[in-house]
Amino acid sequence: MTITALMPVYPRCGVRPVRGEGCYLIGERGERYLDMAAGIAVNALGHGHPKLVKAIADQAATLMHVSNLYGSPQGESLAQRIVDMSFADTVFFTNSGVEAIECAIKTARRYHDVNGNPERYKLITFKNAFHGRSLGAISATDQPKMRDGFEPLLPGFDYARFNDLEGALALIDDETAGFMVETVQGEGGMTAGTPEFIKGLRKACDEHGLLLILDEIQCGYGRTGKMWAYEHYGIEPDIMTVAKGIGAGFPLGACLATEEAAKGMVIGTHGSTYGGNPLAMAAGEAVLDVIQEPGFLDHVTKMGDRLRQAFEQLIPNHDHLFEEIRGRGLMLGIKMKEPAVSRDFVAHLRDNHGLLTVAAGENVFRVLPPLIIEESHIAECVERLSEGARTFAGPSDD
Ligand SMILES: *Cc1c(COP(=O)(O)O)cnc(C)c1O
Repeated sequence: MTITALMPVYPRCGVRPVRGEGCYLIGERGERYLDMAAGIAVNALGHGHPKLVKAIADQAATLMHVSNLYGSPQGESLAQRIVDMSFADTVFFTNSGVEAIECAIKTARRYHDVNGNPERYKLITFKNAFHGRSLGAISATDQPKMRDGFEPLLPGFDYARFNDLEGALALIDDETAGFMVETVQGEGGMTAGTPEFIKGLRKACDEHGLLLILDEIQCGYGRTGKMWAYEHYGIEPDIMTVAKGIGAGFPLGACLATEEAAKGMVIGTHGSTYGGNPLAMAAGEAVLDVIQEPGFLDHVTKMGDRLRQAFEQLIPNHDHLFEEIRGRGLMLGIKMKEPAVSRDFVAHLRDNHGLLTVAAGENVFRVLPPLIIEESHIAECVERLSEGARTFAGPSDD
């Protein structure tokens, strides 16, 4: 037998973390890494945040799971807090991002169905998008590396170029249900939607009776310095998916919707055994308590600005290597010059400089630190990054 016990779908690297402390990860042999990846934008409060740890431990001892057949004081409380601070009127809790995406797609289809337009089932989605790995979510992206070999996929998706409003509008037809788009593309290459693009999609939805679904699984929940990335654009979606930072390491996601958009989601139309269980809700409450502390989001904005400024100073010193900075707040990416080199550079930073970052599409590497990052971590990150840039020998380095 050659297959590993863990199904070998990930190219796992040599970092084998066994412990975390704030912005650091500690490996099996005691080696320390500065964690500027944060579990891919998940560990918003870093590792071992005392409030989150305590909330989970206390709730685990009190009540971990009950069926959604019973009333949920825990779910009602967190849902109400999210409703109070967002465009949404209602929330469905999930255990992951992709489950929130599935709920969003179903909500959009049901909306048009109960409106008497069952033929309006198609979503316009975007090239380079990432919405997760279910059959529905891979159908919603045009990326062959995620789709190949899994056909037939779910019908009902048309793909436009990201930030190409004209192209997206040209795809609207009698069967269109709406748009589904990341406000800031993450995996695809850390590209923020332009104001014209995001506002233009909103306007088209209003004009044609379509639904705007924003995927803020990576860019939402404070990551860009605002609670929701859509706040930068002065618009609101009809449906939105959230995950990653909402549980800050505890598996939790959510699909948010307006009352109008959710009007098809009545008793029996959707469900999840674990979704919204008391343990997950306790984690979610603790995360939100920290994010809602006065000054927390200002801190994210400030640290994001510092990090960006530091990168801007770094680029001219290594202009053979780096091309541009992308993203927003503490969701930053650096595009590299030499083709297809970002993965090797991420490996080099990791193996030779103890710095964890994440590769993305379009030859970008991502810097997604815990939102609790301090100036000292930024200084350390920049020092390691500039050393790494100096010692990087090119694609064959590792
Ligand atoms: C991570 C991510 C997902 C998928 O989330 P999972 O929890 O892995 O299912 C979907 N959309 C975006 C934008 C993401 O970054």
